[in-house]
Amino acid sequence: MSAETARAEVSTQTPYLPTEDDTRFWQSAAEGHLLFQKCDQCSYIRWPAAGVCPECLSRASTWLEVDGVGTLWSNVTYRRAYAASLKEQVPYPVGLVELDCGVRLLTRLVDLPHEGAEVGMALTVDYREVGDHGVVPVFGPAKTVLPAVPLV
Ligand SMILES: [Zn+2]
Repeated sequence: MSAETARAEVSTQTPYLPTEDDTRFWQSAAEGHLLFQKCDQCSYIRWPAAGVCPECLSRASTWLEVDGVGTLWSNVTYRRAYAASLKEQVPYPVGLVELDCGVRLLTRLVDLPHEGAEVGMALTVDYREVGDHGVVPVFGPAKTVLPAVPLV
């Protein structure tokens, strides 16, 4: 046990439980898809998910799958576990990722280079089991996809 883990405290805050509005987000993430509500009236992408659009008050929406590409907008290192199941993982990096679709998503950062996270770095989504929260979206450095080379 590291000295940092030994000092880790567990928050007494009630763990987050999905709501009627965001259950689809969490279920889709567990299946490897990143979906957000898109307002049918004004096209605003709602996050967090809500029964009413904060921009135009419409209740109509459609779930939209996004590609999970974005940049790191801000980051911190959590030194306090927000659930008992995360206590052994403290300290861990968390970032606010600005997705290309405009949503800013607070998420765990993974597979960071030795020098750590840097604001503005390109990130892509991955899906990992985190504590007892099940499989959730996490973000790591953008993977370089090389163009296909035709076989000769
Ligand atoms: Zn709207």
